[in-house]
Amino acid sequence: MAETLFRRLTIIGLGLIGSSIARAAQARGGIAAEIVASDRSQAVLDRVVALGIADRVELDPARAVQGADLVILCAPVGAFASLAEAIAPHLAPGAILSDVGSTKQSVLRDVGPLVPDGVHFVPAHPLAGTEFSGPDAGFATLFEGRWALITPPPGTDSAAVETVAELWRRLGSMVSIMEPAHHDRVLAIVSHLPHLLAFTICGTADDLADETRQQVLQFAASGFRDFTRIAASDPEMWRDVFLNNREALLEMLARFTEDAQAMARAVRWGDAGYIEDKIERGRKIRKSLIEIRQA
Ligand code: NAP
Repeated sequence: MAETLFRRLTIIGLGLIGSSIARAAQARGGIAAEIVASDRSQAVLDRVVALGIADRVELDPARAVQGADLVILCAPVGAFASLAEAIAPHLAPGAILSDVGSTKQSVLRDVGPLVPDGVHFVPAHPLAGTEFSGPDAGFATLFEGRWALITPPPGTDSAAVETVAELWRRLGSMVSIMEPAHHDRVLAIVSHLPHLLAFTICGTADDLADETRQQVLQFAASGFRDFTRIAASDPEMWRDVFLNNREALLEMLARFTEDAQAMARAVRWGDAGYIEDKIERGRKIRKSLIEIRQA
């Protein structure tokens, strides 16, 4: 067998992202000689066994990380502090501890202080996902052609950073290194705010009187339908993202609210030029995304 990047890869949290890493590692090869899966739920581990996407499953995360040279936290970010506490004493010297969490300053805050000396802490965030969750939602090609952002704290061993970068390249991603605070601001506008708007607009529609609500569902035009797709995302994961990127999300929401008010004013006063200009800018952004093949 060709040499793999890791001897033992332990994945904690086998939902959409964790199970996709396991599937991609199996399908693409050259990543791990052994995959160990751990999850808080036995039902998830039973599915992992049935799907055949790990070599071994362990309910206890402390047992799961023993002897692993790479551990990736793939649970919701709100669970990271307690998970790090549970596994820290059992991490092998020289091992790399990474994660896929959608917020990065919180991961540095919650996990960083618990990482033992001699273990390399290299946080990362694949910009890939769907609105589905759980081990059955994952697929081996999820990361192909998508960005993986690596956000190492200052002073991280550069060889460990390069190893994590190589992992994501082998999973099919393009890699970029980013400062954690910058990551959180960028993601607040490109991901967290759009989700907040989607959850909110679906709530607003749901609050409408019974008769109107029924018609909203019956005649859902593509605009509302697109929002409902985003709003179908996992509640626990998104609750944790909002609470762990509070400042950047509130800043982007405040900016958005100002801009929405300006649009409302243009609508009220019949300022056709303003409205047209905003729509034109939206079209341009969509066109650029298609051009760089990230649509
Ligand atoms: P998911 O499908 O809901 O999977 C999360 C898994 O973690 C579930 O199996 C869950 O078990 C398990 N879990 C929860 N708490 C745990 C704990 N304390 N210990 C062990 N396992 C635990 O979520 P996901 O979409 O894969 O997201 C996982 C992580 O990836 C999150 O940190 C998220 O921010 C990040 N991320 C998500 C996306 C996306 O678009 N979905 C993209 C990039 C990164 P139960 O079934 O029992 O809840």
